[in-house]
Amino acid sequence: MVSKQPVALVTGGSRGIGRGIALALGQEGYTVLINYNSNVGSAVQTKHMIEQMGGQAETCQADIAAGPDRELLLDYCMENLGRLDLLVNNAGIAPPKRMDLLETDEKNYDKVMTTNLKGPFFLAQRAANLMIQELQNKIIPSGCIINVSSISAYAVSVNRGEYCMSKAGVSMMTSLLAVRLAEHGIPVYEVRPGVVDTDMTAAVKEKYDKLIREGFSPIRRWGKPADVGKAVAMLARGDLPFSTGEVINVDGGFHIRYF
Ligand code: NAP
Repeated sequence: MVSKQPVALVTGGSRGIGRGIALALGQEGYTVLINYNSNVGSAVQTKHMIEQMGGQAETCQADIAAGPDRELLLDYCMENLGRLDLLVNNAGIAPPKRMDLLETDEKNYDKVMTTNLKGPFFLAQRAANLMIQELQNKIIPSGCIINVSSISAYAVSVNRGEYCMSKAGVSMMTSLLAVRLAEHGIPVYEVRPGVVDTDMTAAVKEKYDKLIREGFSPIRRWGKPADVGKAVAMLARGDLPFSTGEVINVDGGFHIRYF
C-alpha cells in the first residue's frame, strides 16, 4: 500500500519536542510515523492525539543508535506506508551522567555521540538514498530532511561537552547533506531549539526558571514543543524554496549577542 498522503518519519516523535513536531505535521496533512525507543505508551498517546485531529499516524519502536533498528524502521515505513517524503531527525539524549570535561569517560561520550550524531547521520544517509529512488520513480513529488540540533551546537557547557560536540556535529552534517542532496532537489534544514520545556529539561527546571527570569533570552519564557513543531511545519510545507542548509533558531532570540 502506498499512502495517498505524504509520509513523515519523526524520530523520538512520542513525547517532548518530537510530539510537538508530530502533531504539527499531522495538522499539515502528513501521515506521521512516530518512532520511539522504550516508552510505547507515549507513542500511542501521540498517535491518538493526531487521530483525534483527523490525521493519520503509525508508531514504530527502534533504537536509532543501533544500525539494525534503523534498517527495520525504514523497512517498516516502506512496507506499511509505501513512501517516505520527510525525515525529521529529532531523537536525542542528554549525557547519562553530567560530567566535567576533564572527567567524562568514553562510555558517556559513545552513548551520546552514537545516539545524537552517528544514528541520525546513517538514518539520513539511508533515507536520502530512498528519497532519490522515490523521486526517480515518481512515488513522491519532493523530499526533505530536517535535523533538530540545539543552541549547544555553539554554546559551551563544560559539564556536558559530549552533548555540545554531538550537536555541533549535527550542524555540520546538515551542511554536508544540504550540498550533496541539492542536485536531487532534497533540501536539508537544521532546527536549533533553545531551552524547551520537556522531560529532558525537567531536572534543571529551577535553574532555567531563574535564568529565563533574569534575561537568558530576549523572549523571557520557556520554549514549548509546539514552537519547534511550527518551525518544522513551515519548512515541511516548502515555505523556503530557495534555501537549503538553513538554520532556523527557535530559541527566544538566545543566539543574538546583545547588551
Ligand atoms: P525528551 O523529552 O527526552 O524526548 C526524547 C525523545 O527521543 C523520546 O521520544 C524518546 O523516546 C526518544 N529517544 C531517545 N533516545 C532514543 C533512541 N535511542 N532511539 C529512538 N528514540 C529515542 O527530549 P526533548 O527535550 O524532546 O528533545 C528532543 C530533541 O531536541 C533532542 O535531539 C534534543 O537534544 C533536542 N533539544 C532539546 C532541547 C530542550 O530544551 N528540551 C533544547 C535543544 C535541543 P522514548 O520515550 O521511547 O525513550
